[in-house]
Amino acid sequence: MSLTNAQYDAIQREYDARQLKNRRLLETRRAEVFRACPAYEEASDQVASLSVAYGKRLLDGEEGALSAYRQELAGLLARKEALLVQAGFPADYLEPSYDCPECRDTGYVNGRRCRCYERRVIRALYAQSNLQELLSAENFSTLSYDYYKDGDLANFKKAVETSLSFIKNFREEYRNLLFYGEVGTGKTFLSNCIACEMLNQGYSVIYFSASGFFNLLSRYSFDAENKEMLYKTYEDLYNCDLVIVDDLGTELSNAFTNSQFFSFISERLLRKKSMLISTNLNLEEIKARYSERIFSRLTSNFIFRKFSGPDIRACKNISYTVY
Ligand SMILES: [Zn+2]
Repeated sequence: MSLTNAQYDAIQREYDARQLKNRRLLETRRAEVFRACPAYEEASDQVASLSVAYGKRLLDGEEGALSAYRQELAGLLARKEALLVQAGFPADYLEPSYDCPECRDTGYVNGRRCRCYERRVIRALYAQSNLQELLSAENFSTLSYDYYKDGDLANFKKAVETSLSFIKNFREEYRNLLFYGEVGTGKTFLSNCIACEMLNQGYSVIYFSASGFFNLLSRYSFDAENKEMLYKTYEDLYNCDLVIVDDLGTELSNAFTNSQFFSFISERLLRKKSMLISTNLNLEEIKARYSERIFSRLTSNFIFRKFSGPDIRACKNISYTVY
């Protein structure tokens, strides 16, 4: 899976627009400071004429010109900063500002794609058009315990606590989650909450329905012409911060896709990259459906959380978009 040139162009235009926006902001601020403090503008002019004045002397190789220049410049810069603060502005008010300080909104750091650019590409590739909309409705601020009682409520609370701690400690502690339980007990909802929060915190998240995921695993494997695409897709799958596979067990699987699934889990574990799987299957069914080795990878590397209760979708009478 890869972007078309038109999509890359569109992303590049976003970066150009960001740079322009921040340049304009800086110009506006400079004008504001000049108005409020004419002495600051004078000092800025002096910095410019200073380099002109010393330029010739430096070119002539005059001894001591460079150190004299540096000394005078340092004095002027200190004066500018003092004037700025005296006029009531923060000392860094005229520093360039960037949406992404790492790449200064160029999308590249030392010739390599910045993390912000990778996230942007992944969003364009995998963030299905309805995902953003869905996440605006399904996030921790809209989470409700009202549909649960007694033991079901205890299960759900435990799952929420685990999810919050998963997010909070994401950098420091490597964890994977597996949500299991009957249809409509809140697994997908909680997965969406996690996806939303992780995206908000700047992590790259790829979200799949199980059928979409297994389709992807098998799609390029038989297609010799698409090896390069396969490679790129796998790189995304293995490198992004979190892969969510929703509704495991609803896909059409076979021995081939299961072996691909096993490789996927093993590789992510090896790279210490997190996964979140949700499934309507119970533990016995998972074991029966996916090989013993997959089951054992899951039980030894995933935190299992059980969901139970009445079917909330039926209670709310809403239909969920499948993507
Ligand atoms: Zn960046």
